[in-house]
Amino acid sequence: MPKTIKNPETIALHGGEYRKDPSTTAVAVPIYRTTSYQFNNTEHAANLFALKEFGNIYTRIMNPTNDVLEKRVAALEHGLAAVTVSSGQAASTFALLNVAQSGDNVLSSTDLYGGTVNLFTHSFKKLGIEVRYADPSDPKNFEKLIDDKTRAIYAETLPNPYLRVFPIKEVSDIGRKYNIPLIMDNTASPVICNPLDHGAAVVIHSLTKFIGGHGTVIGGILVDGGNFDWTADPKRQPLFNEPDPSYGGAIWGQVVPQLTGANVAYAVRARVVLLRDLGSCLSPDNAFGIIQGLETVAVRMKQHCSNAEKVVAFLTKNKNVEKVIYPTLHKGEVANRAKKYLKNGNGALVGIEVKGGVDAGKRFIEALQMFYHVANIGDARSLAIHPATTTHSQLTEEELLAAGVTPGYVRLSIGIEHPDDIIADLTQALEASGKGKLKAVS
Ligand code: PLP
Repeated sequence: MPKTIKNPETIALHGGEYRKDPSTTAVAVPIYRTTSYQFNNTEHAANLFALKEFGNIYTRIMNPTNDVLEKRVAALEHGLAAVTVSSGQAASTFALLNVAQSGDNVLSSTDLYGGTVNLFTHSFKKLGIEVRYADPSDPKNFEKLIDDKTRAIYAETLPNPYLRVFPIKEVSDIGRKYNIPLIMDNTASPVICNPLDHGAAVVIHSLTKFIGGHGTVIGGILVDGGNFDWTADPKRQPLFNEPDPSYGGAIWGQVVPQLTGANVAYAVRARVVLLRDLGSCLSPDNAFGIIQGLETVAVRMKQHCSNAEKVVAFLTKNKNVEKVIYPTLHKGEVANRAKKYLKNGNGALVGIEVKGGVDAGKRFIEALQMFYHVANIGDARSLAIHPATTTHSQLTEEELLAAGVTPGYVRLSIGIEHPDDIIADLTQALEASGKGKLKAVS
């Protein structure tokens, strides 16, 4: 990518190193549907396995189609390197397993996607990794939970349902005092926020959402910011400072900068240890699908955000709406965070409490004609869901309330259709929700 390119609209199309396919000159990124790569000779093969030389070995660990996606998303997020994985869930799993092992703990914001809460609270517990939750309304809540086994802090930039923007710099500064990296799930806010610029060390995405953008592919990615010193406090980050017996005693924090000349130990370890051992790789076909979405993500985000603002203005005046939840509608410090961290838009997610509680909320969803009723966000189409009975249904009542999922809450992911058509569908569905005369819903 030419060094003059700085803007996300251009990075999304030209970011990374890909210009044309070296053998065919194809401009579109080819799908390299291969499992393996021919080694030049035995020395070349040995060097690749020993990481003395970087190159393709096996598609579970790397693939040239995925490589284009990785470099472009890394550029879009102002990071140094990235690793694609099979889903956003795999990205969250890798994000923590790359720094923590049995006996360690990780701090997490309470404002989290329900699937991540399950992963952290139950599956990680079974692996011996404790996740301790802190309320992000006061960044100091994180500091209180740190002990000498704390390996990372994890949060989402723009978490639903509360849609309170996370205090990225405030918490990153606390973490960095203790050599603890902040890992940000930026799924809901690509382009409009760059957490690495505010001190986060790692960014992850569910590529399934806005970056893929068309509801066709599941995928995930981890982006290494290259801005965290993994060797500054060896006791704090043992996985980067102790010899790894699974890789000939490699000390990742030392060996990666020596071999690559770059501070990308986090990305390299995720690739050569976690992808090697756990699998969960993204298929090149899916990487191709995500690249098609990535190329227009910056333009789509503008339309998502401007439509969402119009929808918010409409909803706040509608008599059938009890409450509208949107990053800029919060008060005080939380609203300030939206101004501080979001640029060129405040996101596509909008929450509403439909007047009349659970039944009215259900009637509203049933009456939507254009919005799809699906468990996804970030599609080019407008989407709606009732989290308490779907995405967050495996949480306890206490966890639901802590996550801000009230019984009548409906989450909207505003698409890129014409805003008048979006508002027309919402208008008729809200009218139906107030009348209570649609077919009975259980
Ligand atoms: N992170 C966030 C914020 C999400 O909303 C989701 C999915 O809804 C995930 C992670 C998990 O992503 P995936 O569905 O691609 O596994």
